[in-house]
Amino acid sequence: MILNRNRHLFAGIALFAFGVSLGYLIDLPTPNVESAGTAPVISQEENYLDSANYVPVDDTAPDESPEPGLNLIQVTVKRGQGMMDILVKSGADRKDAYKAIKALSQHYNMKKLQIGQTLYAAYDADSRLSGLNMQKDFDHMIRVSRTDDNFNAALEDLPSIKITRHVEGVISDSLFQSAYREGLPNRVIVDMIRIFSFDVDFQREIRKGDSFEILYERKMSEDGRRVEEGNILFAKLTLRGKPISLYRYKPAKALFADYFHANGQSAKKALMRTPIEGARLSSYYGKRKHPVLGYTRMHKGLDFAAPTGTPIMAAGDGIVERASRYGSYGNYVRIRHNGTYKTAYAHLSKYGRGIKAGKRVKQGQIIGYVGATGRVTARHLHYEVLVNGKQVNPLRLKIPTGITLKGKDKKKFVTLAADVDQHINALKHNILLTWNQKVALNDTGKNEKSLFLQSY
Ligand SMILES: [Zn+2]
Repeated sequence: MILNRNRHLFAGIALFAFGVSLGYLIDLPTPNVESAGTAPVISQEENYLDSANYVPVDDTAPDESPEPGLNLIQVTVKRGQGMMDILVKSGADRKDAYKAIKALSQHYNMKKLQIGQTLYAAYDADSRLSGLNMQKDFDHMIRVSRTDDNFNAALEDLPSIKITRHVEGVISDSLFQSAYREGLPNRVIVDMIRIFSFDVDFQREIRKGDSFEILYERKMSEDGRRVEEGNILFAKLTLRGKPISLYRYKPAKALFADYFHANGQSAKKALMRTPIEGARLSSYYGKRKHPVLGYTRMHKGLDFAAPTGTPIMAAGDGIVERASRYGSYGNYVRIRHNGTYKTAYAHLSKYGRGIKAGKRVKQGQIIGYVGATGRVTARHLHYEVLVNGKQVNPLRLKIPTGITLKGKDKKKFVTLAADVDQHINALKHNILLTWNQKVALNDTGKNEKSLFLQSY
């Protein structure tokens, strides 16, 4: 270690102070609720990015060793299995399994049981089921234990700590690949791409030598074995020397936090530039020889070539007008954004969860997946923008802008942005350091305890 202890402490106190003010300004305890509404939810089977996913050590095993004489068996939920099958297979008596599941379901909706979920079943010396441990979510463990001939369940809080991570890097191929190499997990990269999707056309505007920088939250179990990624607080893309910086901020009257440029202009526009990530623009708007019919006709949208199952996002907030088969369009979704604008998405392999006519959707929400239904030669997304009911060239569209912060909101935002900048500066010019906010808040007398170094 090159730096001495006092410098650690000094930087730590500065960061601690920052952490408190930041936490105050942006309402840190709310992110889970928000991300549920805004982040694209990609189901396991359809997650084509999953190969690049960050997989934290998943360990629901209790920290303490089991009581002597107890045999702990780890079981994993497989396709087509219910909890009953799992427990009986692991050696439980049917009656015991039934009672244990009944206890477990007091704290867990068994319909939500997911493939790949693990739990632990404990058996005593007589091979009787004596208990179950299952992680409910990042912050809770359900412990089921035998009491004579019955089972009781208790919900236990799992302590965690919140840190912020700062990562930056130069783009040598795609933003995704480069960010992943720098240690950014899949979900955070997808979020980053989503928040910049109003300003940046990722198919055409990213070049070798461009760079990115990000500050985001990470929740960790106290033993550091489990990790949950949180919100992006700040992200910056520098494209051909021109920086675009976005800060997370929740306007006083808004339901959700959003991202804003340093001047207070929201990143969100009425419509996104492209409703899909990681796709190649394969056919433009205009006259072309039709690949199936053979003669020249007008192509009234953009085609994006992408693997089957690639998620398609709603280009803007709106109401689903149609989500059904539609002639040569195949599986088709059309969204009405306002009185003027609609967008349509064709040839889908399947629809997003809950997507049907009348459903309200948020910008960036997954409304379907790339496929090859209808009259097509290859899988792709056919994307249309309609203005007053008529298709227009999406690339020529002057995209309406979002909101600009004013008055008190603007003042608060400017302070927050300055805090973020200062924090990042401190990180860059002192040491790469993360702080343990929760411990620091609980234990202000011993700031040293709240610090730990993290190497990148
Ligand atoms: Zn097309």
